[in-house]
Amino acid sequence: MNYYPDEIIEEVRLNSDLVEVISEYLHLEKKGGSYFGLCPFHREKTPSFSVEPVKQFYYCFGCNNGGNVFHFIMHIENLDFLEALRFLADRAGIVLPEPDNDEEQQKIRLRKNVLEANREAARFYYSILTGKTGLRAQKYLFDRGLSLQTIKRFGLGLSPDDWNVLSRALRAKGYDEETLTASGLSLKNKNGALNDRFRNRIMFPIFDLRGNIVAFGGRVMDDSLPKYMNSPETICYS
Ligand SMILES: [Zn+2]
Repeated sequence: MNYYPDEIIEEVRLNSDLVEVISEYLHLEKKGGSYFGLCPFHREKTPSFSVEPVKQFYYCFGCNNGGNVFHFIMHIENLDFLEALRFLADRAGIVLPEPDNDEEQQKIRLRKNVLEANREAARFYYSILTGKTGLRAQKYLFDRGLSLQTIKRFGLGLSPDDWNVLSRALRAKGYDEETLTASGLSLKNKNGALNDRFRNRIMFPIFDLRGNIVAFGGRVMDDSLPKYMNSPETICYS
């Protein structure tokens, strides 16, 4: 399963300081030679999650979760080892050699396409919200105290009240069916055509730490149900 040479794994590890990486997720406080914080893997009120900067290991005395930086990222981001390796390599600005395994390459390509499709969808939703058809939704958001600045900053949008306008727009931009269904933006109907998952909802992009849009949340503006709807679990989001 692991086709990367040990030197590369080691290079990624050495460039991913455990204290720095963990500090991106929780607050750590130095006590003696170690750091302590509230464990992200179980509920607690007093910190029993420890990080050893010299050994580059973490350990939780409450739930016994522990390991190195790869284990931490695998657990907290819910990734397998290769995904965690890529995640940390990206973060450290290390370019990994292309994997020679077809299936893995396909997965990488699909993931990249899904992220691009999500970004395109966010632009689309934003343009609908800030356009003429979005006036009612804009008013709804303003009434709830959101400013145009906030809308822009968080990239909020509006999914149109239409069966497949987004799917069609993305298909026209060259995204294939596999990407659109894998992203969760589109659903295949009984006749094999693509329908939009989100219709007539205020759309909230969900970002990962690196600024990728990994999913969307959609909220209705009236009393219809479900009130909130999220993207399903995808290759980019769990
Ligand atoms: Zn714990």
